[in-house]
Amino acid sequence: MLPIDPQADIGRRAWAPCPTCRTHETCDACRDGRNCADHWRYLLSNTGSLLHLQCPGCTDVWDHETGFGATRSGLGRLLRRALGHG
Ligand SMILES: [Zn+2]
Ligand SMILES: [Zn+2]
Repeated sequence: MLPIDPQADIGRRAWAPCPTCRTHETCDACRDGRNCADHWRYLLSNTGSLLHLQCPGCTDVWDHETGFGATRSGLGRLLRRALGHG
């Protein structure tokens, strides 16, 4: 288990599937792409469309490519959620 990154901020969350927990395969809310109350990830930072995430459950750190060019609206939704603006 990794330590939770000092940049982790509960005010900056993202709902991207964790490759280790795979909650999007077992949890209805995650599978539907809703803001699951139980399964969310810390948004440590982002570089363009690449999000640097940490899962508070398994403490894995990974990069999530959102494909900004192809799914601009998807990224906007994700970031708004992460930033708590809707
Ligand atoms: Zn996880
Ligand atoms: Zn869930």
